[in-house]
Amino acid sequence: MKCKRCRKAAAAVDLPSHHSAFCPECFFVFFRRQVEEGIRKFSLLSPRDRVLVCVSGGKDSLVLWDILLDLGYDAEGLYIDLGIEGYSDRSREKVMAYAKSRGKEPIVVDLRREGVPIPEAAKRSRKEECAVCGTVKRYFFNRVAASRGFSVVATGHNLDDESARLLGNLMHWHRDHLARQHPLLPETGDGLVRKVKPLWRVSEMETAAYGFLKGIDYVTEECPMSFDATSLVYKEALSLLEEKMPGTRFNFYQGFLQSREGRGTESKGTFLNFSEEGPAAGGEEESGGAQAKCALCGAPSYTETCAFCRLKEKVGKGGRR
Ligand code: SF4
Ligand code: ZN
Repeated sequence: MKCKRCRKAAAAVDLPSHHSAFCPECFFVFFRRQVEEGIRKFSLLSPRDRVLVCVSGGKDSLVLWDILLDLGYDAEGLYIDLGIEGYSDRSREKVMAYAKSRGKEPIVVDLRREGVPIPEAAKRSRKEECAVCGTVKRYFFNRVAASRGFSVVATGHNLDDESARLLGNLMHWHRDHLARQHPLLPETGDGLVRKVKPLWRVSEMETAAYGFLKGIDYVTEECPMSFDATSLVYKEALSLLEEKMPGTRFNFYQGFLQSREGRGTESKGTFLNFSEEGPAAGGEEESGGAQAKCALCGAPSYTETCAFCRLKEKVGKGGRR
């Protein structure tokens, strides 16, 4: 099959949802345009921004860093070493190798050095690993961005991630989570930096194809802490629908965003009230504009000490037992 754009080279990537198939060069053009449109649609980034890209060593975040650099953004990588034996070391190697290939030096936060490696912190606090991980990651996204003068934090969530999350939120009618689901979470003015998801229009397959064709080497194994396969079930359900009806995933998520925009003009402040990811996702200081500062670290917090400092305290106490 020939590429549908240049009609010369052989097609390398088949995209049924776009009724297209592209050769590598034309696929890069397509992918780039999708990301640019995703950024433009919600004014996620401006050329003046200093962007902190959260890189995990996986394909999505490295592809995000790659394309933002190619688009000319001032983008630096932040790698949070979760302290998960083996997996974190291998992920870190991928991040360092990619950064070197682009002449970059990522900012590294090592949770073992910070005293809160995820497996240990989850055990001591008697919480799920992913809940603890969410709290810690959000804390360092904000802290590093604020202390180093970044105007925005970007994460590599793609269309599959966001549509699966939407389906899960709808299935359980998590209205508060639905109200906060968006590719843009504005800054709150009291220390919580703006957060964006520039890959929201591109699928996991498209991101993987881009990474592969660009020669980006990423970690392919799943995090060993991802016991909770719920999001994978929603992804599978949507993949089935996508296979039978190409374009379903995009229409589902875009339709949700459009309905939010429409309703935003009718009833501001209820379902559509933008705010940060809620306490269920880890951390009351992220629940929509913190009122005060943590007495220990100075981070925005509703309570006297922030969720991170309370966690750190629990881990410390557990260690002294
Ligand atoms: Fe963190 Fe859980 Fe994701 Fe692992 S699976 S990186 S512990 S949120
Ligand atoms: Zn604190």
